[in-house]
Amino acid sequence: MHDKTIAQISAGLAAGEFSSEELTRALLERVEQFNPQLNAFITITAESALAQARAADRRRQQGEAVPLTGIPIAHKDIFCTDGVRTSCGSRMLDRFIAPYNATVVEKLNAAGTVMLGKTNMDEFAMGSSNETSFYGPVRNPWDLNAVPGGSSGGSAAAVAARLTPGATGTDTGGSIRQPAALCGITGLKPTYGRVSRWGMIAYASSLDQGGPMARTAEDCALLLGAMAGFDPRDSTCVDRAVPDYVAALNQPLAGLKIGLPKEYFGEGLDGQVAQAVEAAIAEYRKLGAEPVEISLPNSQLAIPAYYVVAPAECSSNLARFDGVRYGHRCENPKDLLDLYTRSRGEGFGAEVTRRILVGTFALSAGYYDAYYLKAQQIRRLISDDFRRAFEQVDVIMGPTSPTAAFNLGEKADDPITMYLSDIYTIAVNLAGLPGLSLPVGFAGQRPAGLQLIGNYFAEDRLLSVAHRYQQVTDWHERAPVGF
Ligand code: GLN
Repeated sequence: MHDKTIAQISAGLAAGEFSSEELTRALLERVEQFNPQLNAFITITAESALAQARAADRRRQQGEAVPLTGIPIAHKDIFCTDGVRTSCGSRMLDRFIAPYNATVVEKLNAAGTVMLGKTNMDEFAMGSSNETSFYGPVRNPWDLNAVPGGSSGGSAAAVAARLTPGATGTDTGGSIRQPAALCGITGLKPTYGRVSRWGMIAYASSLDQGGPMARTAEDCALLLGAMAGFDPRDSTCVDRAVPDYVAALNQPLAGLKIGLPKEYFGEGLDGQVAQAVEAAIAEYRKLGAEPVEISLPNSQLAIPAYYVVAPAECSSNLARFDGVRYGHRCENPKDLLDLYTRSRGEGFGAEVTRRILVGTFALSAGYYDAYYLKAQQIRRLISDDFRRAFEQVDVIMGPTSPTAAFNLGEKADDPITMYLSDIYTIAVNLAGLPGLSLPVGFAGQRPAGLQLIGNYFAEDRLLSVAHRYQQVTDWHERAPVGF
């Protein structure tokens, strides 16, 4: 039962082959069995999951089920969940019980999904390996010595290990796509504004976007359909109809123009990852698509611009964690300044502290024009590169990540090397575009991902392009040994 996709589970529930309660019990047992090895979950909500599953089964008996009713999922621990600890991977929020649900959680609850628990993540979503989590690193089910990627590494590992058929993630610079690639699953970062950010703990507000992580594009389509849509509580959420992503999955590939940015196939790209990506592109050609070389000339500026904009926004967003209103508070402060400095010093880990310092510096008087304003100008150049590319092509393809999963500890002490993991994903956030990663092979034992980038609100196109490939290949069906 645990090996089924969301679409298969949905069909099985509709046919009465099993109940949501039976399935939820089976998955909770797997979570109990495998989480000690993987550390993919920070919190397991077994009791409420079973209650939600029973409610879903009743709803189905009453003839009121929709496709996601009774489907078990997990939420990244960045989404506020009413009455459940929402830690954001930080000591700062270790004891924070959210008093309300994020819009994404609310919408998935309304569809009848069952929450198994909250998944591990890099602290405040800052990282590419899940090693910055206060709760310890997550291990990659394909190789327990490897990282799962980050920051949505817990969600990616849980889906890959068949502990849950789907999960939520968030992506500020690659945090859905890169762990999806490193764990061999499918993940979609929607257009900025497609999914509400309300109740999703803010890292860099102009870049953050929530999205689905699952084994297949079809499952991502099912989840995104429930997650997307206007929310008056998020002023950057776009009021635009949500298409039927599942109905759009079978759009033809014939004549599809695929742009291959020459900057994404150069130095730094692992040979085996390149081979897997090239084989996938060859498959697309067989299916009738037409690859053309394009250029995104400002690609090399994406990481430096991101590491000004994201820390600047994070330094402002994280100012609210001061030990007064909520979050960690130090023992016996001697005065207010001591309370602020010790609470923050104890609550935040090294990477978060580094980014707050960088961001505060970049925004300070005299440096604002040199750094923040410059980075915003580069952002425009990067968006213009994509705008010009989409005048020629329908989707852009390339590797999601320059390498397959690296070893735990391998890059943990070298932030610059770690930052390079997102070299192909970050520009997409700076431009606000949608991006999807799907599994297309292996580098040794470790999965390799193909990234699809689309024009604004072309999620339906990305999902169908991925789905067509998954209908004729089986990389997405491969399971890690032992799970
Ligand atoms: N790895 C990138 C970072 O460390 C992106 C993280 C994310 O998308 N949340 O900031």
